[in-house]
Amino acid sequence: MIEMEKLVSLAKRRGFIFPGSDIYGGLANSWDYGPLGSELKKNIKDAWWKRFVTSRDDMVGIDAALIMNPKVWEASGHLAHFTDPLTECTGCHSRFRADQIDLNAACPTCGRKGTFTELAQFNMMLKTFLGAKEDAAAVVYFRPETAQAMFADFKQVQETSRKRVPFGIAQVGKAFRNEITPGNFIFRTREFEQMEVEYFVKESEWEKHFESWLSEMKAWLDFCGVDPKHLNFHEIEDGERAHYSKRTVDIEYQYPFGLKELYGLAYRGDYDLKCHQEKSGVDLRYTDPETNEKYLPHVIEPSLGVDRTLLVVMLEAYHEEQARTAEEGETDLRVVMRFPKALAPFKIAMLPLSKKDELSVPARALAAKLRQRWTTDYDETQSIGKRYRRQDEIGTPYCVTYDFDTLNDQSVTVRDRDTMQQERVKIEALEAYLAAKLGF
Ligand code: ATP
Repeated sequence: MIEMEKLVSLAKRRGFIFPGSDIYGGLANSWDYGPLGSELKKNIKDAWWKRFVTSRDDMVGIDAALIMNPKVWEASGHLAHFTDPLTECTGCHSRFRADQIDLNAACPTCGRKGTFTELAQFNMMLKTFLGAKEDAAAVVYFRPETAQAMFADFKQVQETSRKRVPFGIAQVGKAFRNEITPGNFIFRTREFEQMEVEYFVKESEWEKHFESWLSEMKAWLDFCGVDPKHLNFHEIEDGERAHYSKRTVDIEYQYPFGLKELYGLAYRGDYDLKCHQEKSGVDLRYTDPETNEKYLPHVIEPSLGVDRTLLVVMLEAYHEEQARTAEEGETDLRVVMRFPKALAPFKIAMLPLSKKDELSVPARALAAKLRQRWTTDYDETQSIGKRYRRQDEIGTPYCVTYDFDTLNDQSVTVRDRDTMQQERVKIEALEAYLAAKLGF
């Protein structure tokens, strides 16, 4: 596995991800997705949405407000319990999550021993004020997860979509947590994105649906190009789980900085709907259309971080190899991002062999045509070898070279990122050729 520094440097150099507010010295672990990063991220979210929402008859999506009535967070227990244990070193005033360090060891920042304060519970909800008055009545919170909107909106979604249990509500969107120690690049930030599903089932069927979602998550990780050897399915033991959960699996990934959580899958019983029903006074029960039985459905919750997905997709895609051909530069290291084709920011790069109008004008026109269907880069600077290298580094599956022979034989050369094989293809057959290779 590659070191994080290499990935962070490539991400910055090629415009995937860079420090946010950089011209002002940044802002505590905030990151901005650049042109390639935002495309990659969008591809991940679109693929997820297509797979788990629009391709299924038992799923619907929502897009709820980031700021919800604070009563939502009272009912869900976040205001009282969404805390991390905080300790501070009295020597250097660095703050740590007490469950992430050894309190008997020296301070990781200043090296002094015995300087940690008593633990305090630190609430991670990010606060702000709504409206002109900054008083207690105006305090609201940015959502720390997307999940609660699926419970709060459960009744309206079920009634308007007329879905029958079992069915699920999905949402993709931002969440905010005032993490004590953000870090490890985009692994832990205070502003991040989630893709979550609340899947509503009959209590008697929860085990079957849990298993099915576990397989769905494995299949999704396979689609993302993740080697199963880098994954660990951690069954959370009795006593460690939330009191309402009969089964929780943390899907962990072997990051360069250790084995840590990537996703979570939890059986939440009817805990959330029950809390919201009690707090709001609104009957949230579902009526079975066949038996007329009224009940609160139970919930299976697959919870995925978008940014952690993107980090893992990049880590898995990163390959270094010795360049093999003279064109590639025999002694150089070739860096290739082997993204799954569906996720690659650019699918195609159009590379005319010369900047001269006789090649660049028709090459630009061909690129414009391909761009209607696939994201297509255009690059006419530097040697062809350097341009191939750049496209490899950003993971473009196919490079199309437009050369002087093209003017005579109306054919272009298509180079495959993974095999580096080159094939001569007639321009009139190019779209069909690429569609077959890309598979979409
Ligand atoms: P951790 O133990 O790493 O703090 P968590 O158990 O608190 O994570 P959940 O509340 O289950 O995380 O959130 C669901 C998913 O959202 C996580 O599996 C992860 O992918 C993502 N996520 C949670 N917190 C962050 C964060 N601070 N930055 C980026 N992604 C996050």
